[in-house]
Amino acid sequence: PAIAADAVPTFAVEPSATPLAVNERAALLTNPGFGRVFTDHMATIRYSEANGWHDARVVKRAPFQLDAASAVLHYAQEIFEGLKAYRLPDGGAALFRPHANAARFRRSAERMAMVPLPDDLFVESVRAIVRQEADWIPDIEGGALYLRPFMIASEVFLGVKPSTEYLYAVIASSVGAYFKGDAPAVTLWVSQDYTRAAPGGTGAAKCGGNYASSLIAQAEATRQGCDQVLFLDAVERRWIEELGGMNIFFVFDDGSIATPALTGTILPGITRDSLITLARDMGLVVREEPYAIDQCRADAESGRLREAFACGTAAVVTPIGTMKQKDGQFQIGSGGPGQITGRLRQALIDIQRGHAPDPHGWLDRV
Ligand code: PMP
Repeated sequence: PAIAADAVPTFAVEPSATPLAVNERAALLTNPGFGRVFTDHMATIRYSEANGWHDARVVKRAPFQLDAASAVLHYAQEIFEGLKAYRLPDGGAALFRPHANAARFRRSAERMAMVPLPDDLFVESVRAIVRQEADWIPDIEGGALYLRPFMIASEVFLGVKPSTEYLYAVIASSVGAYFKGDAPAVTLWVSQDYTRAAPGGTGAAKCGGNYASSLIAQAEATRQGCDQVLFLDAVERRWIEELGGMNIFFVFDDGSIATPALTGTILPGITRDSLITLARDMGLVVREEPYAIDQCRADAESGRLREAFACGTAAVVTPIGTMKQKDGQFQIGSGGPGQITGRLRQALIDIQRGHAPDPHGWLDRV
């Protein structure tokens, strides 16, 4: 059935006849890792010009039947999101800022000339999956249910033009802490040969193509013994932008914090936005401004730059200890997790898990 624009969307739930046995699930949830353990169900919604958004369902997670000429397989008209649901101390579950992900998904759709999914439908789809799969939230330190909403161009046509049909879906993955205990400091490879996004391009959209094009740089980072890639701007190859899947922050000796501004080539991270707010709540000065890699190195060497960290939904906050580039490497601060990094990380985690008050109304109880 079609979904009226003003109606509260409801999902037809068709429970799987073959859910994983409780003891088998419990075994998986003791050490799920990241992105390998998937739950029994998925939510799906379809779009066509004739019917608009229709057919909202929660069904058994299963392979899609996709015509080999589906537009997404050829021209990569695809977008996705990533957000988490956490177990609360009272046993309930809550999503973290799902409306912010809905808004970013809508903007990604607009950039990719896709039909935007109404925000209500996005939020209700993730709530529906969390309600169905709450037992898949691992009761381990750092455990969460990672939700992966995505949308693909499903029109069967080889002409290069925006698709007239779309398939939207949400799958869920049980995840553990990215790092056990305190997050260790990572080493970044500063990519001088490859860039991630150019002015006028798709850097601010969460489209699969951005990640496909970043893989060669990540492979280079791994070869160089580094954990993650740091991308510079595409025009001057000088300004720090972000990592392959995380935003970046710097902490200075005067206690202030800086992060690159959202100029259109950086993904507007929801963790980034949350940390800016929390830092200001703590009375810290936060600047959104350009920062050149040469200045970063000079400041690290002079001691003006004390800490750096990366942030995103998956790993929340990750300290950066070392940066490596073609002409050598340099250490930031002690090379280990910094104090302000640790404070911000803990403040965010405490809100996400319901261990601290939620003054900004970020938790969406399901
Ligand atoms: N930058 C990129 C390129 C990303 O893929 C992500 C992960 N979505 C982020 C930053 C962090 O965004 P968020 O805090 O919303 O997870």
